[in-house]
Amino acid sequence: MQCFTKAGFCQGEKLAANADLSAVAKARGIDFFLVAFVDLRGVLRTKMVPSSAIKQIQRDGAGFAPAATWLDFGPHAADLLVMPDASTLLQVPFSPELAVVMGDCFIEGKEVAQSPRAVLKAQIAEAQKRGYVLKSGVEAEFFILSAQNDSISDERDIQSKPCYDAQSMMRRYALLADIVKTLNACDFGVYQTDHEDANGQFEINWHYRDCLTTADQHVFFKWAVKTLAERHGFRATFMPRPFSNLSGNGCHIHCSLWSGEKNVFEGKESISDLALQFLGGVLAKAPSFCAVTNPTVNSYKRLNGAATASGYTWSPNRVSWSGNNRSHMVRVPDNDRFELRLADGAVLELLGVHMVHEKQTATHYSRVYSKISTFYGWQVNPYLLPALMMACGFWGIDTKADPAKCSFPADVNMYEIPDGSPKLEGIASLPRNLIDATRALESDKDLSALLGADFMRAFIKLQKLEWADFSAHLSTWELMQTLDC
Ligand code: ADP
Ligand code: MG
Ligand code: MG
Ligand code: MG
Ligand code: MG
Repeated sequence: MQCFTKAGFCQGEKLAANADLSAVAKARGIDFFLVAFVDLRGVLRTKMVPSSAIKQIQRDGAGFAPAATWLDFGPHAADLLVMPDASTLLQVPFSPELAVVMGDCFIEGKEVAQSPRAVLKAQIAEAQKRGYVLKSGVEAEFFILSAQNDSISDERDIQSKPCYDAQSMMRRYALLADIVKTLNACDFGVYQTDHEDANGQFEINWHYRDCLTTADQHVFFKWAVKTLAERHGFRATFMPRPFSNLSGNGCHIHCSLWSGEKNVFEGKESISDLALQFLGGVLAKAPSFCAVTNPTVNSYKRLNGAATASGYTWSPNRVSWSGNNRSHMVRVPDNDRFELRLADGAVLELLGVHMVHEKQTATHYSRVYSKISTFYGWQVNPYLLPALMMACGFWGIDTKADPAKCSFPADVNMYEIPDGSPKLEGIASLPRNLIDATRALESDKDLSALLGADFMRAFIKLQKLEWADFSAHLSTWELMQTLDC
């Protein structure tokens, strides 16, 4: 099936934030706009606005009932008005009559402080005051599932080390090519696509940008991957650990800090002293911000996870870093940036239902059964991830944080150091589950000051509700372990 309708499609010049979208619609043949925002659980919310009404929406905003989203409002709250930021406009290459435009959230004339894009913009303003721009690139891994979502879609993708496998890639070539063509027609600068370390898992890499552009692109990326997967008869998931015996979906973020044209993270042999302080802040705060980078119950099946069919989880267990070494939480692959490997790509979870990972004997991968078909999004938030990097990084610079105590020689395999080893003295562990992570976040007063009390209150409240919901749910595992006791 071919979804890409317009070869050689071009977005044209990037627009000003207040560009006249009605005129743009006429010039580019756009019939509809998806005016969109992302809430605290990472759900992409939208109103579909015909181009005949976009002038009025640009003036008044698109209206939403805030309590119907995850932003922590009650049913009595006034309308949430989303004001389109025209500079984010992407005309959808596989449906060129449609365009996606991200917006900012306001209630009664005041920006909603806890909305994720506002949280990121506050950190960008802080960076600007210091004369810096954070540039970031993300690697949002995903699985391609069958449309019924009960297994990976390719029954022949069964190698125990499937990473980079050419044949499994070719069986999904049509979909992957449509995704890459879509992204490149939106000026992403995709430079590679590969089959990742789990059966059915893929990754697409595009060029890093200023962190707000990357965050908006990250949102569009997930939307495009999921939409195109469905058009091809599949289902894509960014869930952290959908299969208990396969590697999970990570969402690594690469960071560099720029002053004009100069990357101030660039050092001689490794990253600069300033970058080390920034990294020191990120390392020191990782146990407390883990609830944000790894925001679901399922996230903690990826972190500290059991070994996988390929041999490695590729996800961290402890707060450590090294050079070009993928067994640590932070990797420094070059002398001009670092990579945080902590975050995950959660996007699908089942609400109040059994989600059973049943190991099959016939094939080596698991099947996922769902008892109901209601899904909601819940993911490492594309806006909160870079916001955390800046908040903790600048805190690190201000406090001259020293990352040396969490550093390991480049040839150490972190997965081989057992718990209790003297080599781990002073090395913090990551939280083991969502409630521990949430409590660590709640008790970190620095983060509350850095990220804003409104955000902290709303986020922690939602996380506690999530944990309570999970705790109230009876799992098959409990029944199996206890029924006959
Ligand atoms: P790996 O799998 O080795 O971690 P990838 O090539 O999959 O690396 O992803 C690297 C990401 O890092 C890409 O998004 C890339 O654009 C980004 N990146 C490269 N250099 C920088 C930099 N200086 N600052 C921020 N991001 C960068
Ligand atoms: Mg209505
Ligand atoms: Mg990669
Ligand atoms: Mg990867
Ligand atoms: Mg990586």
